[in-house]
Amino acid sequence: MTRLPEVYKLNTYELPQRPGEMKEYELDIEIPEKVGTELIAVVAGDIIEVDARLESVAEGILLSAEIFATAKGECTRCLDPVEIAIEKRIQELYLYEKKAERRKGKPVEDDLEIEDEFLMEGDVMDLQTPIRDAIVLSLPNNPLCREDCEGLCPDCGGKWAELPDDHAHEAIDARWAGLAGLTIDEPDFKN
Ligand SMILES: [Zn+2]
Ligand SMILES: [Zn+2]
Repeated sequence: MTRLPEVYKLNTYELPQRPGEMKEYELDIEIPEKVGTELIAVVAGDIIEVDARLESVAEGILLSAEIFATAKGECTRCLDPVEIAIEKRIQELYLYEKKAERRKGKPVEDDLEIEDEFLMEGDVMDLQTPIRDAIVLSLPNNPLCREDCEGLCPDCGGKWAELPDDHAHEAIDARWAGLAGLTIDEPDFKN
């Protein structure tokens, strides 16, 4: 990973590092680079809204957050613009640096479903990776303008939804004619 943009860093100095302490943050992160895939992404300059709750626990800070953003892309069938509203909950444990060293791979003793662990950098929590992962995982592999999008005619690029039912091209007719010709010239296998 390259240099992490500062916008994703949350300074938690206001949260006492004592188990039981809690603080809520509402963040509007204006992203310097797009977050998403080739086909659909939250574009650079857009806002990712993060409602975060931080709780001090023995080993570090537990982040529970709801992420809101709008991803933009194109329908993979008809190329119409597609917008997807993202609303995703995440929960991650950020370990204090010194605690992380001491633990040496021991599992965290609680029943929270924590997928990954991150490291505090002093008081600073870098939210970039969990936010990016949450967004990328909520995006479809093949964005569609609607489930049943019929896409485009491969010959003229017209939208099937807007073309008449009997839409067809000369080229297709010619190809069939050719096949018909071959059938006639086929050698006789019966003998
Ligand atoms: Zn479409
Ligand atoms: Zn066509």
